[in-house]
Amino acid sequence: PTKEYELLRRRIYFNTKEFWYYVSYELRLLAKTVEGIKPFTIRMKKNINEHYLSLLNDITKLATVDDHTRWRRKEYIYLRTLVQKRLRFLQNPEDCSKAKKLFCNLISDRRSCGYGCRLHHIVNCLVVAYATNRTLFLDNLHNWGFTSGGFSSLFFPLSNTCTSSLDKNETVLPWPGNESVQVVNLTLPIAVPDGSSRMRRPLLPPFDPLVLPEDLSHRIQVLHGEPSVWWIGQFVNYIIRPQLSTIDMFQGYEDNMAFQVPTVGVHIRRTDKIGLSHKLEEYMYYVEQYYKQQQMNGKDLFKTIYLATDDPTLFKEAYKKYPDYHIFGDPELSKTGSVATRELDKSIVNINIDLFFLSRCDYLVCTFSSHVCRLAYEIINGIKYADASTQFTSLDDMYHFSDQIRRLHVAILPHKSNRPQEMDLQVDDEIEVIGNEWNGYSKGTHLRTNKTLLYPTFKVIQKTEVMYFASYPDIKI
Ligand code: GDP
Repeated sequence: PTKEYELLRRRIYFNTKEFWYYVSYELRLLAKTVEGIKPFTIRMKKNINEHYLSLLNDITKLATVDDHTRWRRKEYIYLRTLVQKRLRFLQNPEDCSKAKKLFCNLISDRRSCGYGCRLHHIVNCLVVAYATNRTLFLDNLHNWGFTSGGFSSLFFPLSNTCTSSLDKNETVLPWPGNESVQVVNLTLPIAVPDGSSRMRRPLLPPFDPLVLPEDLSHRIQVLHGEPSVWWIGQFVNYIIRPQLSTIDMFQGYEDNMAFQVPTVGVHIRRTDKIGLSHKLEEYMYYVEQYYKQQQMNGKDLFKTIYLATDDPTLFKEAYKKYPDYHIFGDPELSKTGSVATRELDKSIVNINIDLFFLSRCDYLVCTFSSHVCRLAYEIINGIKYADASTQFTSLDDMYHFSDQIRRLHVAILPHKSNRPQEMDLQVDDEIEVIGNEWNGYSKGTHLRTNKTLLYPTFKVIQKTEVMYFASYPDIKI
C-alpha cells in the first residue's frame, strides 16, 4: 500500500471513533437536559453503537485486503530487525575502553518514580545514546533499588562488552559535551511534583523520545498509526530482553494459568493513584465492545480478560460481577506490586509478569496516565503487532511519553469556533496538544495565538517530528 492509502485508512478509523465519542457525549448531555427524552436517547445510543462497531469492523478488514497484512508484517520485521541490530552494535563496541560513551544516572527515589517510570527513564537515555552514536553506560543498573539480584537477574545486560565501571582516565564532560570527548554525562534532573500534583518537567536534552530519526521516519510513518510508539517500543524491547530463566518463569505462569488468546488485557491502577481511579465497569464496557465487534465477524469467542492491577481486591469484584468471563491473572501478583507496600524483590518480578501477559493480549483497556499501561502498549507494538494503534482504549490520557517535550497537531480543515472555549483554525495551523477530551474535542495551545482552547479532533492530524540521528550505515540486514 502507498503512504497515502495507509494514512487515509487510519484517519478514517480514528475519526470514526472521534465521531462516536462526540455523538455519545452529546446524547448523554441531551438526556440530562431535556426531560422525557431518555427512552429516545437510549434507543438511539444502542443503534448508533451497532452502526459504529460495524463501521470499525469494516475499516479493520480494509487493512487486510490485497495481501496488505503480509506486506505490513514483512516491513515490520525488517524495521524491527534493523533497529535491534543497530542497538546491539551500539551497545557492544569491540574495545570498550576506546568507545565513545554516554553516561546516564538513574533516578533512585522510588517513591516519586515506580518501575514503569524508571524503565522510561532508561529509554530516554538510550534514545540519546542512539542519536549521538555513544554506548549507553548506566552505573547503578545492577543495584536499581528494586531487587537484590538487580535488573540484570531478569534481563540481559545492556552491554556484553562494556561491563566494568568507567575508567578514571576517561575524559568526561557534561551534556552536550563535544564530538571528541570520550564520555558525555547526561545526568537527567529528577522530576518533582510541582504542587499541582503533576510532575514538573525536567530539563531535557534535545532528543525528544517522540521525535523520529530522519533515515527511518518515512517507513515508520507508513507502517504505524502512532509512529513514536513503535519507535519507543523498540527501545523498551531492547532493554527488557529476558534471560532464559525469566522466559522459563513466564512459561511456568502461562502453563499454570492455561493462558489463551484472544483475550483483552485490563490494567487497573489504584492504591496511591486512587484519586484518578475509574470503576471496574468503565473498563469492562470497552471489553464488551471488543467482543461485540468480534461477534460481527461470526466469532462467538469465549470471553476472557487478563486482569493486572496493584489492588488485589479487584479480582473478587471482577469474579462476582462478571461470571460470564474467564479471568486470567493472579491477585497474589498485585499484593506486593504497589509502591506503598515496598516489598521490592517481589515487586519487580510481579510487575514484569503482569507486563508480560498484558503485552500478549489482543486488546488493551487501561489508563494512559499510568506508566505501566503505556509500557504494556509500547511492548505490544514492539513484539506482537506491526501496528497496535487501533488495539487499545485509554480511559484518561492520550498516549504520551513522560519525558516528551511536545506533541503537535496540524489543522487540515479550517474551523470557526462555536463557543468561547473553542479556537479558530486555519489549515496548517499547529497546536501543542494537551489532551483528548473524548467528546470529539481535544485541548491544546495554538502556537500562533498562544491560547489554550478546544478544537474538533477530526480537523487535525498528528505531526510527527523528525531529526537527524546517527544512521549506522555499516549495519546491513
Ligand atoms: P504509575 O505510577 O502507574 O505511572 O507507574 P509506575 O511504574 O511509576 O509505578 C507504579 C508501581 O505500581 C509499579 O512500580 C508497580 O510496583 C505497581 N503496579 C502498578 N500496576 C501494577 C500491576 O498491574 N501489577 C503489579 N504487580 N504491580 C503494579
